[in-house]
Amino acid sequence: MKKIIIGHKNPDTDSIVSSVALASFCEGSEAVRAGDLNNETKFVFDKFGAIVPKLLKKAKGDENVILVDHNEASQIADGLKISQVEKIIDHHKIAMETQKPIFLRVEPIGSTASVIAKIYKEAGKKIPGKIAKLLLAGILSDTLNLASPTTTSEDKQIAKELNKVAKLDIKKFVQEMFKAKSSLKGISMREIIGQDYKEFEMGKNKVGIGVWETTDPETVDAKKKEVFDSLAKKKSDAGLDYIFFLVVDIIRQNSSMYIIGEDEKALAEKVFGGKSEDDILTLKNIVSRKKQIVPPLTEALTK
Ligand code: MG
Ligand code: MG
Ligand code: MG
Repeated sequence: MKKIIIGHKNPDTDSIVSSVALASFCEGSEAVRAGDLNNETKFVFDKFGAIVPKLLKKAKGDENVILVDHNEASQIADGLKISQVEKIIDHHKIAMETQKPIFLRVEPIGSTASVIAKIYKEAGKKIPGKIAKLLLAGILSDTLNLASPTTTSEDKQIAKELNKVAKLDIKKFVQEMFKAKSSLKGISMREIIGQDYKEFEMGKNKVGIGVWETTDPETVDAKKKEVFDSLAKKKSDAGLDYIFFLVVDIIRQNSSMYIIGEDEKALAEKVFGGKSEDDILTLKNIVSRKKQIVPPLTEALTK
């Protein structure tokens, strides 16, 4: 039986590089992806001349599956079943119920790439140069250059060790990578909310949260009417109870939360404080969905 390693839907850099690096570690496995690459991930793979994993078009249903960078049923690639999952390597809250025992490694750390680097180290296996570059990019992407509140001292140490092999000019690389992350090339405002979009079960509620990390939040603000329209459409298409969209300002480390309805407004103002202005709530020092957005919303909605 085929063993595949796959990251979440709407894949980000961390999930793609983690699948590639783990496949290089695990003999007889193949990295595949659950969706199209975003502009940042494209930049990273181009830059390092790395081979992009194939898109999982049609799952057969008999693959052995290793999930990286997710463990939420709604984020698993279409066609894969939880019963196929034999292993999970992740850094998100545990949100999955399995029918049989599986191998689970979840660490409260800045990126799944950091966990994969630890797996290499613990096995005493040398990390190939290209893999070191990809993993380092995954860490720097997911931690917003080691500045997000998800960053741990371990991430910083691992990044330093990886760069002994990768030998990147980190400052320059991060600048280029964040430029690619912020690029709206080929992305309409309708698509922007789906680029890094995840759904969560919070109590009895289905909540969709999209994130757009950028060095240039004004470009989105200028087209906010289109953003609100697509949020409303997404909410009804996906049958959501709540939908939020966050434009994360990577440089200033703030977020703008786009709020489409009265329910969202009441919930967001209660949970995060402050008053929304023109349907946007400014969240100071908030940049992480997994650490700063999902936990308080979940608490409020499960009470
Ligand atoms: Mg991810
Ligand atoms: Mg991640
Ligand atoms: Mg992220």
